[in-house]
Parts: sequence; structure tokens; C-alpha cells
Amino acid sequence: MIELNGITHKFGKEKVLEDVDIFIDRGEIFGLLGPSGSGKTTLVRIMTGLIIPQEGEVKLRNQRMPKRSLMKRYGYMAQENALYYELTAWENLDFFSSFYLRKQKKERMKYVLRITGLLEYRNRSVGSFSGGMRRRLSLAIAMVHDPEILILDEPTTGLDPVVRRSIWKEFYRLKEQGTTILITTHSMEEAEKCGRLAMLRGGKVIAAGSPDAWKREYHTQTLEDVFLHFG
Ligand code: ATP
Repeated sequence: MIELNGITHKFGKEKVLEDVDIFIDRGEIFGLLGPSGSGKTTLVRIMTGLIIPQEGEVKLRNQRMPKRSLMKRYGYMAQENALYYELTAWENLDFFSSFYLRKQKKERMKYVLRITGLLEYRNRSVGSFSGGMRRRLSLAIAMVHDPEILILDEPTTGLDPVVRRSIWKEFYRLKEQGTTILITTHSMEEAEKCGRLAMLRGGKVIAAGSPDAWKREYHTQTLEDVFLHFG
């Protein structure tokens, strides 16, 4: 579904990604881990076609990125939001969803607001929202057109456990319907919920596999210990 082959990218003289190969299947929840500055966001931006890598290729559904027709098929939530603060949550969602949605737009808007716990706040301006509420709205926007692929850069960072549980329940439901989900995360609790993981360090994939396989391989009880193993 998502294929990264030999991705290498530099910013100036700094090599941020080096020869990254990752393959993600349809219906997988794939976690991208790694310390701050290891290249996760850059890789995610390359996957979405926002950055063209200097070397290597990205394929979505066997077609080379970036391609306009493919871009409609995914939902992307960046780390920083792109919301209009003077508009309400509903107006923001309405604006972004109008690019893609024709049928059942209102139903979908209500649905994703409910999942992210924002339905009752829909008529409040985004300027009056907390940081967590803005993240939830960005996630709602990424999901509203029910994309085949969701690419989410730290989607639940800083969210309370009740909302996080509701969002993960939705991720599992989406996985069952065949949606492919890639998330970057610093949370070991979240990493544990992913089917497979890749760990980036200094722009290279230093480990890949399922959470259980990692624990077996590194003889540890928890994923946190696997992290500590890499130092
Ligand atoms: P975090 O977990 O803190 O979000 P990350 O793993 O997502 O970090 P990136 O944001 O991909 O890391 O950054 C990787 C490296 O690339 C860092 O050294 C960063 O300073 C550098 N970098 C990222 N974007 C740019 C840019 N537009 N111009 C120059 N350097 C950049």
C-alpha cells in the first residue's frame, strides 16, 4: 500500500534520512518511532508528497508520489495545525471537507466531531480552543473524507485518556474496514497498539517489527526497555 524505497534526503549539508526502506500493507496500523530530530516528520512529509526526496521513491497503491489523484486518497495530520482561529470548529471542518466531500458531508462532519469529542464545541471559535482541542480538530479534518490512508504526525500527543481511547477505538474500526494508518509517536503505550513499528535514529531505520517481536528479540518486558536498549 505504502512503499518507501531507498529514501535519502538532506537539508543543506545535514543528511536527515539515509536509505530508508519501509513497506506498509493495506489495513495495517504502522508506528514510526524515534527520538526527537531522528527524521520522522521529514519522512511523513515525503510520504505525503510535501517534500520530494533527493534519492529514492515513494509509492502509494503502486503509483509513484506525488500524484494529485492519490493525494485525495489520504488524510494527513501535521504536527502544527493549519486552522483558521477566527472561525468556529464547524466552519473550519466545513471549509476543509468541501475540497473532497460531496455526499453526506454533514453526517461525516458530525461523526468525526463526535469521535474526537468536539461535537458540543462545534460552534466555538478555534481561537478559544485549548491546544488539545486544536489537535483533535486537525485529526477530525484528516479523517472527515474517510481516506484509504491516514498519515498522522503525533495525533494524540497531549490528549486526555478518554479522548485517546475514543480515537484509538476509531483507528481499530478503520483498520477493520481496510484503512491503512501510519502514526508517529513518542508514546510507548501507543506504540504497543500498532501492528508493526519502525525505529528511526539519525535518519536510518535501526529496527523494524511487531511490538512482541521486538520484546522477544531484545529480551525485554516492555517497549520502553527496547527503547532504552538503543540508548
Ligand atoms: P520530533 O520528534 O521532534 O518531531 P522528528 O523525528 O520528526 O522530530 P524532523 O522534524 O524530521 O525530526 O527533523 C529531522 C532533522 O531535520 C532535524 O535535525 C531538523 O532540524 C532537520 N530539519 C527538518 N526540517 C528542516 C527544514 N525545513 N530545514 C532544515 N532542516 C530541517
